[in-house]
Amino acid sequence: LKLIKAADPEIGKSMESELRRQQNNLELIASENFVSPAVMAAVGSHLTNKYAEGYSGKRYYGGCMYVDEVETLAIERVKKLFGCAYANVQPHSGASANVAVFLALLEIGDTVLSMSLAHGGHLSHGSPVNFSGKNYNIVPYGLDDKTEMIDYESVERLALQHKPKLILAGASAYSRKIDFKRFREIADKVGALLMTDVAHIAGLIITGQHMSPFPYAHVVTSTTHKTLRGPRGGIILCNDEEISKKINKAIFPGVQGGPLEHVIAGKAIAFGEALRPEFKTYQQQVVKNAAALASSLMQNGLDLVSGGTDNHLMLVKLNKFDITGKEAERLLDECNITVNKNAIPNDPQSPFITSGIRVGTPSVTTRGMKEPEMRIIGGLIADVIKRRETALSDVKIKVAELCEKYPLYKNDVIL
Ligand code: PLP
Repeated sequence: LKLIKAADPEIGKSMESELRRQQNNLELIASENFVSPAVMAAVGSHLTNKYAEGYSGKRYYGGCMYVDEVETLAIERVKKLFGCAYANVQPHSGASANVAVFLALLEIGDTVLSMSLAHGGHLSHGSPVNFSGKNYNIVPYGLDDKTEMIDYESVERLALQHKPKLILAGASAYSRKIDFKRFREIADKVGALLMTDVAHIAGLIITGQHMSPFPYAHVVTSTTHKTLRGPRGGIILCNDEEISKKINKAIFPGVQGGPLEHVIAGKAIAFGEALRPEFKTYQQQVVKNAAALASSLMQNGLDLVSGGTDNHLMLVKLNKFDITGKEAERLLDECNITVNKNAIPNDPQSPFITSGIRVGTPSVTTRGMKEPEMRIIGGLIADVIKRRETALSDVKIKVAELCEKYPLYKNDVIL
């Protein structure tokens, strides 16, 4: 940061402010995390200079021997983490990984059965405003009205009715376990391929906190920056050689040019970290913290979609307090608690307003917080939702105390 501030004071100033924000806020956005200093250093390294179109040993540029080593290590480590045979670590993001799978395995216009955005799916799973929804025949499935959990019977009914070529299991805002085995049984009944997007729960999966998509999924995509705690990016995994060849072609030359070898080095380092026993303890704590936060929110009178959580996140329903998700997000931001507004099932508000917030524990767990802090945070969130402006100054003080007790990125690492 010192170097950047000297070279470009304008950017340096904004970057320093963002560092302070990360240090001084309780980060509860379920899809975010804090990478290790080593991962951050790799992403900001000289590897950004290298063009390496192609794959290790088969590049379209000279001088790739060292980035080949890096990319091969990333592949070997991620295969070990998930226990699968093939991995592509080049996707620039989770969305690009999903584009590549659609391109590899489908023809334009094919039918895909995927979770609706309104019930917790991701834009890239078939939203009408996304590449997926514009180019494929998307049949959405959703949650059971009563349990607010995935309605597997309706997934099966829709599969039998529409005969999709691909069924996509995975979500961005779903607080319960996903039964990949059940999804595969449904896929087999109609001869569909099963794709799973485990972006949110990847860290939980590789440490045994959630059912693995293997051996059930034909292909698995993920981001690397959520519970996996790596740099921003994507991966695609599978066990079938033919599918892996199609995937590799779809990424390059299909949708991407040169891979980001600096990010791939960051991915390799994060995968190395995830192979260590401490990572399992961390993921166990993420789940315990989410359970503690959920019960604190409910004890304080807030309702959660599906009545709780089995993973790292929860969706808080706000309608009974007559406050929108947008307003709750703004008020919480004012006292340095960062969450995102999120639609709840059958939300009467637009996606930009919403009647809910999504709250997750990966980032605060990385800072070292445990169940007692989650109970405090649950009380603080409830206080802001109930007392609004009148709660802000008290809550802000308590947030500052927590952030000071659990520091993030000591100054000597980053300044
Ligand atoms: N898939 C899921 C399930 C996600 O939740 C997300 C992001 O939130 C993505 C894909 C997209 O990842 P990215 O933002 O890296 O494109």
